[in-house]
Parts: sequence; C-alpha cells; structure tokens
Amino acid sequence: MSLYISSLPSADTLPDFPRNLVILGATGSIGKSTLSVAAEHPEQYHILALAGARNISCLAQQAEQFRPEYLAVLTEEGAKELKSLLPAGYNPHILVGEQAYIELATLPDADVILSSIVGAAGLPPTLAAAKAGKLIALANKESLVLAGDLIRTTCRENNAVLLPVDSEHNALFQSLTGHEENDVTRLILTASGGPFREKDAEFLQTVTPAQALKHPNWSMGAKISIDSATLMNKGLEVIEACHLYGLSVERVHVVVHPQSMVHSLVEYHDTSLLAHLGPADMRVAISYCLGYPKRLPLSLTPIDLTEIGSLTFEKPRLDVFPCLQLAFDAIKSGPSHPVVLNAANEIAVERFLQEDIAFLDIPRCIEKALSHHSGCDVSSLDAIIELDKRTRQEVTKY
Ligand code: NAD
Ligand code: MG
Repeated sequence: MSLYISSLPSADTLPDFPRNLVILGATGSIGKSTLSVAAEHPEQYHILALAGARNISCLAQQAEQFRPEYLAVLTEEGAKELKSLLPAGYNPHILVGEQAYIELATLPDADVILSSIVGAAGLPPTLAAAKAGKLIALANKESLVLAGDLIRTTCRENNAVLLPVDSEHNALFQSLTGHEENDVTRLILTASGGPFREKDAEFLQTVTPAQALKHPNWSMGAKISIDSATLMNKGLEVIEACHLYGLSVERVHVVVHPQSMVHSLVEYHDTSLLAHLGPADMRVAISYCLGYPKRLPLSLTPIDLTEIGSLTFEKPRLDVFPCLQLAFDAIKSGPSHPVVLNAANEIAVERFLQEDIAFLDIPRCIEKALSHHSGCDVSSLDAIIELDKRTRQEVTKY
C-alpha cells in the first residue's frame, strides 16, 4: 500500500519479539500508557531506554520498576537528582540534553522508538530514528506537521517504518490495511468537540485554563488538552493525515462525534465506510503499534454498544473554533505555513496556561503570525528549526 508513509511493512522485515523499546517522553500521558501496555507483556517487550524532561521523580520510579539500560533528562541538575533517587546496585547510562534524545532514538539495540515528547522538541529525535531505519511508533504529531515531507523521504530512504499512535490515524491505518489506495475517496477524522462543544463565542471569552483542561472523554497532557478545546488538535491531525496517507487536504474531512467511540473512518469509492471503534483509551492504539503486526490482548473493558445506545455525528463549528479553519488554510498555503501555525500555537497555549492571555487570543495570535508569513524554504531540518524559532520570538512580542 503506497498510500502509507513508508510502504506497509511485511512481517519478516519487522523486529522479532521480545522487542527492545525506547520511550521518549516516558513521564507524560502517552509514555505512562506505553509502560502500562509493556507491563502487561513482559515476555514480549523489554524497556531499553526511558527519557523524560524535568519530571525526575516520576522517571526515577519508572526506572526502578523497569530497569532500562539507558535514561535521559534535559539538564545536568536533573541527571544528578535522578542518580540520587535510583536504587543501590542499579547503574544505568544517564544521558543529558537535547542530543541525548537523539542518541536514544538511534541506539543500535533499539527495535521500537516510541516518540511521545510533546511539541516541536519531538522532531529531531523522530527524524534521527527515521534516519537510523527504526520502527517508529509516532505520538508526536507535531513532527509531521513541521516536517511531513522530510520525514516521509527519510523513512523511505532508510527503510524506517512509521506507525501512527494518534488514535484517529491509528484507526485509519487499521481501516486502510488490506485495501487498495486507489479505492479510497475520503478520510474522515472524528473529533470529540472538546469541553466547549456546545458553547458560544461569548462563553469562550472568559474560560479559564482549568475549564479548558477538563476534557470530557480523554485524559491527556496539558498542551494537547488545550489543543482539543480550541480544535487545533484536529487541525494538526488533518495535516498529520495528509502527510501519513499522501492525500490532498480536500479529501480529509472532520466530523464531531462526542462519544469518542468511532476513532475515524475511511470512505471507499463504492460508498463503503470502514470505521474503527474502541474504548477512548490510548493503550489500544499504542498496543497495536508496539506489537504490529501482532494484536496482543489488553486488560481493558470492551465497549458495550447497547449500554451506549446511540452514536452521534455533527459538523464542526468553524466560526466558533477558528483554529481548525486556520489549520486547513495553512496546509493549503504551502509547506512552511504549518510550521508557523504550530510555533504560534505552542507559544499561545503556553501563555494561556500561564493565564497571560485569554482563550480566544490563541487563534488571534496564530492568525496574526500566519498573516505576516509569505512562505519560505523548509526542506531541511535546520530551515524548519530556524523558522520555528523566528516565529516563537515574533509571537512572544504580540
Ligand atoms: P505530556 O505533556 O503528558 O508528556 C510530554 C512528555 O515529553 C513528558 O515526558 C515530558 O517530560 C517530555 N518533554 C516535554 N518537553 C520536552 C523537551 N523539550 N525535551 C524532551 N522531552 C520533553 O504529553 P502527552 O499528552 O503524553 O503527549 C505527547 C505527544 O503525544 C504530543 O505530541 C501529543 O500531541 C501526542 N498525543 C497525545 C495523546 C494523548 O492522549 N495524551 C494522544 C494522541 C497524540
Ligand atoms: Mg488524536
């Protein structure tokens, strides 16, 4: 299936079990869910490396439980603290700084790299894993938003395999497998609508970070929770889907589905719709990626359809949630516009969480940054990082 970012991997080119896992962003929401999946199958997965940023005590606890050979943190102070918290007799390699994540992503013994750092910081290690020809389980959607073309080329040149952890893209992957790409007419991404699905623009003027962080169906990190409340998360996912499945944005659609049971759908030219349903729990998608092509059992409660009763679908309200429209516009405008969109969004979300700006200032900041941008070269990692940095500096001044 050439639709896919790297051609669909055949079972004999994938790493054997037990697989050595490297988890970048181990202390986050996705990282913890990944460790919970791995803990269910200790005979299939060995934790080779765990990387966090500043949440040292959490990383130390994870390290004590799973005993990986490698750990990584962002600062020297963090490394010192981490060392002091580890049990006697356990002496893993502790790497420090941004380069450390790249080293872990390319360890010769690593079989699967779980890329779950939040934001643009996840791009360099993801790209390094692609260059090293690894099997990458990708949660860090920002990597594809910033550098979809570069990642696609790098995966292809180095026989790296990219499997999407993001639940919608994982659902699409499962619904595309075994079908002809030429038969696909549309990809339909579902969105929960977030905590403000039924609210109006007036209400949104005064919402607080605490209200915006309360997602109705999913438990996630702070940044993606705010992105879900503004619908920017769905905007980033539209761009992610275009890059993963090689479709133009006109063929990627969004429907609001408040129950978060249907995780996305593929429409075929005979009008068939294939959907993936499952509990709103990221362990399902993570487990599918870690074990691919095996489907290992999980101790989650399956959906009881009769208990749910009905599944509903609505059009997204682009007038009330302009971030989604901004993302559609950005990908249509050219490859550098999504870089500006993402950088402006990361800064605006950070400032909203610090209560420096209002909820509706988030789309305003992004729109302003995009209106000042007329396109530039983003064919190399350096060019992307430079544009990302420049945009962050500009948006900080607003
Ligand atoms: P989180 O904030 O809970 O965790 C982020 C992790 O990244 C932490 O381990 C943190 O220490 C680390 N980190 C943060 N900044 C870093 C830096 N500069 N360098 C190195 N490490 C750094 O985030 P999350 O909710 O787990 O999301 C992680 C990624 O997965 C995001 O890209 C998000 O969009 C994507 N994703 C998350 C979910 C979800 O349910 N949480 C679903 C789909 C996709
Ligand atoms: Mg998602």
